[in-house]
Amino acid sequence: MAEMFKNFINGEWVTSKTGATFNDINPADKSEIVGVFPKSGAEDINMAVEAAASAFDKWRKTPAPARAEIIYKAEKLLRKKKDDIAKIATAEMGKILDETKGDVQEGIDTAFYMAGEGRRLFGDTTPSELKNKFCMSIRMPVGVVGLICPWNFPVAIPSWKIFPALICGNSVVLKPASDAPASSMELVQILQEAGMPKGVVNLVHGSGEEAGMALLNHPKVNLISFTGSAEVGKRIGEICGKNLKRCSLELGGKNAQIVMDDANIDLAVDGALWGAFGTTGQRCTATSRLIVHKGVLKEFTEKFVERAKKIRIGNGLSPDTDMGPVINESQLKKIHSYVEIGKKEGAKLLMGGYFYEEGECKKGFFYMPTIFADGHPSMRIAQEEIFGPVVLIMPVNSFEEAIEVINSTNYGLSSSVYTKDINRTFKAISDIQAGITYINSPTIGAETHLPFGGMKNSGNGHREAGKEVLNIFSEWKAVYIDYSKRLQKAQIDTAKEH
Ligand code: NAD
Repeated sequence: MAEMFKNFINGEWVTSKTGATFNDINPADKSEIVGVFPKSGAEDINMAVEAAASAFDKWRKTPAPARAEIIYKAEKLLRKKKDDIAKIATAEMGKILDETKGDVQEGIDTAFYMAGEGRRLFGDTTPSELKNKFCMSIRMPVGVVGLICPWNFPVAIPSWKIFPALICGNSVVLKPASDAPASSMELVQILQEAGMPKGVVNLVHGSGEEAGMALLNHPKVNLISFTGSAEVGKRIGEICGKNLKRCSLELGGKNAQIVMDDANIDLAVDGALWGAFGTTGQRCTATSRLIVHKGVLKEFTEKFVERAKKIRIGNGLSPDTDMGPVINESQLKKIHSYVEIGKKEGAKLLMGGYFYEEGECKKGFFYMPTIFADGHPSMRIAQEEIFGPVVLIMPVNSFEEAIEVINSTNYGLSSSVYTKDINRTFKAISDIQAGITYINSPTIGAETHLPFGGMKNSGNGHREAGKEVLNIFSEWKAVYIDYSKRLQKAQIDTAKEH
């Protein structure tokens, strides 16, 4: 019998008022149920939001360095439990153990970095235009924040949101993806163990349509921080806009790696393999286009295909696996339908393009690493996010054309350029329309102390991670202190005095 899990509301593990449940399934073996989770509804969300609202005032008044102490404890616990949580994450979402360990490590790094903010959370002081007047800006918490997360980084993404939200003094309701709820549960359990006061962190499981929508529409939720697809992000932005709710959206990508004719080709192949097939291509920053200069197209393509053929597909828990399953059946079908579209559009299928059902893999949702050549920006497979192990090689004649092609999608999350030319390097940094540009490394590999997010349809202008994330989770207050003992009028007296 699979274990039954609960919501975490007001410091207690509680069952859902709906009584309904859903199964958290192992995508490497669909007969294995990782756990049974509550399929919560509006009533559960309401209880969680009320708990967060009641806990908010005390938490916001807790000095930030004291808030940080709890986060430091959580960081230590996460470190201690890293391997166990990684196994749970692999079991529920499929990526290989090395990668889920990396996922937990990102949570650890974020906790450590954000706890440090407890003794910073800097504002500015600045001179006044008037005499005997002092000016500064300070950060204020936003209030109750709703966090809606995807399944592909089940520890890192909730951590990217929870730790900065807490250090800024907000209280939290987290709604994890129903494809990976167990990892979030571990994270919340750690925060509880670390001594988080009751009601400050609440966890409600369930679907986007029910639990997610209820959180989004709750009048006491002041901010929604969402990571997921552009399609859902647009709906969330619309609802938040109508209610003037703060809203940060981290959405999809159609990321590309440029390979110039002066590149180290072996290095570029290493990068392309990791970028395209790491996490089975299911990263918002995954490489889904390879823009290759015609001068090295043949060499690059041959080496890339030869190496891709050696990728070992299987259960992510096995040390012999290079690439795990995709997350679920509907994603598997979506990937395959894009392969069919690519073929119809005239892209040349070099390898893959089918469900992988060898041996044990027939039990899960596996797809072959798939490489298309002869790509063109007019193709749908060059424009739309596929979110699977499918990559399109697009030949170009020049650096200028490469930049034009990389910028030819509606997304602008991550990008990469392989070149040894310093002039091209800086031109690429300045001309690529993306929130992240890597030089001589793949489109994946963000570090937690740099801003993360995208331009165009990859988001709505916010950045997570880095110190920039604090701007999502805090309000700015400008403070003016007049010690002149008389009424001073800005702009008016200023003009008279000078
Ligand atoms: P998704 O958009 O389907 O779901 C994300 C979350 O939103 C889930 O928790 C889901 O339950 C919830 N949700 C769905 N519909 C909702 C609604 N109507 N109201 C409220 N909540 C709702 O995305 P996914 O399949 O879980 O994740 C894959 C997507 O996430 C990809 O597009 C990927 O590029 C993107 N992603 C982006 C980033 C980033 O930082 N930019 C990181 C990881 C993943």
